[in-house]
Amino acid sequence: MSFCPNDGTLLMPKKEEGKSTLICRKCGYKTDAADTKKYRLVVKIPHTPKDKTIVVEGGEAKKYEIDEDEREELKRQALEYYAEEGET
Ligand SMILES: [Zn+2]
Repeated sequence: MSFCPNDGTLLMPKKEEGKSTLICRKCGYKTDAADTKKYRLVVKIPHTPKDKTIVVEGGEAKKYEIDEDEREELKRQALEYYAEEGET
């Protein structure tokens, strides 16, 4: 699932000119569906020292048990990813 970077509305899939796009029904934001599929990362940081992180990749949710270093790395990657997304 993808959400609009402007208002957080769930983006709706739509076929347009032969390719799939995702559209925000609230503000009209549009993005290429293929782009959102390539890499989507969600990092959850719960309170316990030993916790689980949920990584969502191409729409499939997988649960990994990772250590502190890996979690920091994932968090950094996620932040970079969202920073890049915001510039476009
Ligand atoms: Zn929107």
